Amino acid sequence: MISRIALVAHDARKQELVSWVKFNAGSLKECELFCTGTTGRLLEEGLTEVLGEDSLPVIHKMLSGPLGGDAQIGALIAEGKVDMLVFFCDNLIMQGHQNDVMSLVRLASLYNIPFATNRSTADFIISSPLYRDETYERIIPACIESYKNRKL
Ligand code: PGA
Repeated sequence: MISRIALVAHDARKQELVSWVKFNAGSLKECELFCTGTTGRLLEEGLTEVLGEDSLPVIHKMLSGPLGGDAQIGALIAEGKVDMLVFFCDNLIMQGHQNDVMSLVRLASLYNIPFATNRSTADFIISSPLYRDETYERIIPACIESYKNRKL
């Protein structure tokens, strides 16, 4: 079951993410959200329009992405505190914090969390029966344990 969702969008795709979040406000209001700073502010405004101030989900706003927010979200994934990542990257320009972007993508892949880089994938994940399945347990890849215990 998905209950802790990280949401990040680069400037060129922030409105796309706001639109997706507003459309899915009913599902997302039951979740705990973790966002980079500016994305979080915009999503909170969008959700307030749809849900009203009193029904907002918990929205944790990290630092802005270029100031360390992507790294904070990556750390939460590594600590097992995030169930899903929606990360709408600007695919047309390199970011000043491109290393942090790549690190976040790598950690989402490494820890095997559902990870949407575009709206269609986010739609498929949120509408999957597994999204609400309390018995579903994400597999932690074996390579993580074996790396921790590697012989040196
Ligand atoms: P922002 O960060 O939500 O603070 O703009 C997003 C990013 O660029 O990673």
